[in-house]
Parts: sequence; structure tokens; C-alpha cells
Amino acid sequence: MGSNKAELSWVEINMKALVHNVEKLRQYLRPGTQLMAVVKKNAYGHGAVPVARVAVAAGVDWLGVYSLEEGLQLRDAGISIPILIFGYVPSSQAATLVKSELTPTVVETKLPLALDKVQGDTTIAVHVKVDTGLNRSGVRTEDVPHLMYFISGLRRVKVEGLYTHFASADELDRETVGAQLQRFLGVATKFPELLLHAANSAATLVFPETHLNMVRPGIVMYGVYPSPAVERTIPLQPVLSLKSRVVRLHRIRAGEGVSYGLTWKAKKDTSVALVPFGYGDGLPRLLSNCGQVLVHGQRAPIRGRVCMDQCIVDVTDVPEVKVGDEVVLLGRQGSDEISVDEIANWADTINREILAGIRTDLHRIYT
Ligand SMILES: *Cc1c(COP(=O)(O)O)cnc(C)c1O
Repeated sequence: MGSNKAELSWVEINMKALVHNVEKLRQYLRPGTQLMAVVKKNAYGHGAVPVARVAVAAGVDWLGVYSLEEGLQLRDAGISIPILIFGYVPSSQAATLVKSELTPTVVETKLPLALDKVQGDTTIAVHVKVDTGLNRSGVRTEDVPHLMYFISGLRRVKVEGLYTHFASADELDRETVGAQLQRFLGVATKFPELLLHAANSAATLVFPETHLNMVRPGIVMYGVYPSPAVERTIPLQPVLSLKSRVVRLHRIRAGEGVSYGLTWKAKKDTSVALVPFGYGDGLPRLLSNCGQVLVHGQRAPIRGRVCMDQCIVDVTDVPEVKVGDEVVLLGRQGSDEISVDEIANWADTINREILAGIRTDLHRIYT
């Protein structure tokens, strides 16, 4: 699978791997547990609309996004399954929410009140988010009864779901997860008819007691484990690769430096290849002088600083490199693979930041 000739760099998305991951997740859940595929931030860099389409075809029950705009993008693409918006939506957007049949998260009275005033007769479903300890957003547990009572007095608005989000499931902090779950259940047991949900990827994989009526995995759908600590309880296949091509090859002499600041100096005569992929495309600048790419299935170190649109790699030890040869920045080539976790490790961050940083308008190939 190559790129369009005009595209020197591209993202490859392996939809078979995505379907595999959704199926493995599904098999791992108790029958009857609903599955929400989290596709926020352009589906973690994978492309929101194509990923959502395939996830829907693979049988997920819900989609999860952060913003109204993300939800509208999916509706505009003709996706009709329930979509929950996790983030804040201004009350001024109430009519848009109703028209697009997107499910907002409610944490206070303002939005439900505005929704109730929108012209029409259909019931408007909302989910109430309970803050059980992350202290980011949500209604505090002690304020839940009042909010529920307030909404029950509205004509059109109906609470359909109640949820919370864990602070340290990725750290396998069993105690904190357990305490948050207990706090949540303390409130939720009063509303047994609601769709109750709490589990992100890590909780889905490691804490089955958190599954409740629905799980909300994000990162694992893309074939990436939430953190090094999380047990690999289900086999996942990575979905995304980043690829480019050698656009220039040249020899530099011992003592010469490469790229801005000449931070790397050749100790011997060296063959360097120019790759048109830089930090503006999503290759972290922190990979300067420490990252690697694959050329002919072999590791080639990044030399000097990563630039905005390009980087320079050392191909002295890779035989017969030619201009036009494929370069893999993330993914498999031959028998070797550079994982998103490896890149995150070089860049001293987490895998999700690497995926979210991939330029959204890079050419994409879906296989
Ligand atoms: C991002 C997010 C998720 C998914 O998190 P992962 O750790 O990637 O599985 C689930 N729920 C909410 C509310 C989120 O914001």
C-alpha cells in the first residue's frame, strides 16, 4: 500500500486492526454490557469519521466525543447511533443539541433549563456526570439528588445516564478506583433505571467491577495499552502507522554537524537521509538526537534537531538506501516496529499525546 505520488508523508490506518480490537473488547465484556467507542480528538489522531463508521459497523452501541463540534461532525457524516458529549456545551447551543440529537453531559441546572425551552415535543436525553474525585468536572456526589430533582421537574428533559470518570485507573491505583466506584454507587443505587457507566480503557481491562451498564474505552480501541502498568488482559493490534519517504541522500564528513544548532556532529563520514516529517506534523521535537525511524526494516537514528517539516536520519548502516524509499516513523516495517509507547518514552510523555499531536490534515490511507 503506497501513497499518492503527491503525498510524501502519510498516516496509514488499519481498519482490520480496529475491528479486531473492538471484537476483543466485546468478547471480554459480560453480555449485555454496552460499549461506547471514544472518538474524541479526531479519534486519537486516527480520523473521527472513518473510525466512527467502522466502529459502528463493528457493533459499538455509543460514540463518545469531547465537544459539540466533534459530535456535529459525526452527525454530518450520517452517523446516527447515540453520541455522548463529555465536555461543556454552552446553553446558547441548546437548540443545536436538540436538532442534532446529540446527548450532552449535564453538571448543573443551566443547560437542562435551556434545553427545556427549545421548541418541540420530543424528549431530550441527557447524562449527568458525577465528580467522585477527579475534581475536573461533574456535579459533586452530595449535589446529585438536587440536580436530579430539578431535572425531573422539567417537561422535555430526561436523565438517561449517570456517569463518573476515574482519576488513576491507568496507575492501577486499586484503592482510589475502589473509593471512587463506591462513592459513585452510593449515589447511583438510588437511580437503578439509569444507564450507569464509569470505566475508561484501564478500568475496562483491569477492574471488571467498574463495567456497570457500559464501558467507555478510548486508547485500547486503537490497539495501544493505557499505560505500561496496565496488564495486557486482551490482545490488541495497533491501528495507526506514520510513513514518509527519503527525499534526499547525502554524505557528510567527520566533524560536520546537521540541522539547526548543529547539535550533532559526525564522528566519521556518514550517510544522512532527509525525511519530510517534522514537529509540525506530529513528530515531537524531543526526538532530536534520540528518536529512531525504520528504513528497509532497520533502525536509523534521528540526527540533530527535528525541524518543523523535516528531520534528518543516519542511514550509514542501512544498505542501498535510495531517494523515494519508505520511512516508517511509527509502526511496522519488515520485522521491526516502532510503537507509540516507544515514541512517548523518547519524548517523555504519554502515548495519547503523541497520537493527539498528529497533524489532522496529513494524507490518510485506510486499509
Ligand atoms: C477520554 C475519556 C475516556 C477514554 O479514556 P481512555 O483512557 O483513552 O480509555 C473515557 N471517558 C471519558 C469521560 C473521557 O474523557
